[in-house]
Amino acid sequence: MLRLDRRALVLGLGAAAVGVASLSGAIAAPSYDDPDEMYGALRRQPGEKLDVGAGTINLVFADGAPGVDRDRVRSWVRTAAAALSAYFGRYPVKDYGLLVIAEPGDRVGHATTFGYAGSATRIHVGTGADTPAFHNDWVLVHEMVHTALPDLPRRALWLQEGNAVYVEPIARALIGQLPVEEVWRESLVGMPKGAPRTDDPGMDGTHAWGRLYWGGATFWLLAEIAIYRDSKGKFSLRDALRRINRESGGNTVDWSPEQLMSVGDAAAGTRSLQDLYARFAGQRVDTDLADLFRQLGIGMDGQGATRFDETAPLADLRRRITRR
Ligand SMILES: [Zn+2]
Repeated sequence: MLRLDRRALVLGLGAAAVGVASLSGAIAAPSYDDPDEMYGALRRQPGEKLDVGAGTINLVFADGAPGVDRDRVRSWVRTAAAALSAYFGRYPVKDYGLLVIAEPGDRVGHATTFGYAGSATRIHVGTGADTPAFHNDWVLVHEMVHTALPDLPRRALWLQEGNAVYVEPIARALIGQLPVEEVWRESLVGMPKGAPRTDDPGMDGTHAWGRLYWGGATFWLLAEIAIYRDSKGKFSLRDALRRINRESGGNTVDWSPEQLMSVGDAAAGTRSLQDLYARFAGQRVDTDLADLFRQLGIGMDGQGATRFDETAPLADLRRRITRR
């Protein structure tokens, strides 16, 4: 499934922003492809305020989002917020705008998150989406994870996408929405897509889909292991990401990757993140994924089911990652 680059999505800016007559003569709804239109809709259209503990979500059904099941959407948004709160210890941003745009189909469609005028996401929802479609959706949690960390320069997009890919299934597992076996099955299947090619110049500035999403996710799994080892099992990546979230307040501020890493490291009193980032940013790094999963005690049987080895050297860490 395509996970869209949030900045690249400023493509198609302005098109159909104010209701364009279609070929059939009907008036099409605005598309909100231009993020300023999204912010405008969040400010001006009627919204519902959902109290999610430390934060408030302003839920707006774009132009009424005709045909979208509002009860299902509310429950889906609350569940996603609970996953975020479980991971970050509280809802990670104070004010979050969510623009739900109706589209044909039976699933949750693509979404994009912005921070320059407030933490906000626009997301497309199929009018035929049923309860399982919302239950199985990963997109909203992925987008909410983007709001928890500061925005970074374009060269570090891989850190942002990789972080959302890495954290999303874990956050859903923490509230029992995703089986732990599925969290690791996704990594087993996905992370090989992030392997560097022979001419890879390092992660910073990469535009390649596999590198951005799965290469990035592999980095954060390595960060998890590095913090665990360097702190002798006292701290985890979750502690580092919580610290980064608290100090930044989320994606409405711009940080450098170096700043992000040093604030995260302060949580554990290590240099794990700074050292790992320095290695990955500017040169090709090969990761032996087979060995990595073996150390974590994660494998797959002949039927494609995840199997855990509880005697593996990092089995304790693996269990802790998905434990509340
Ligand atoms: Zn993303």
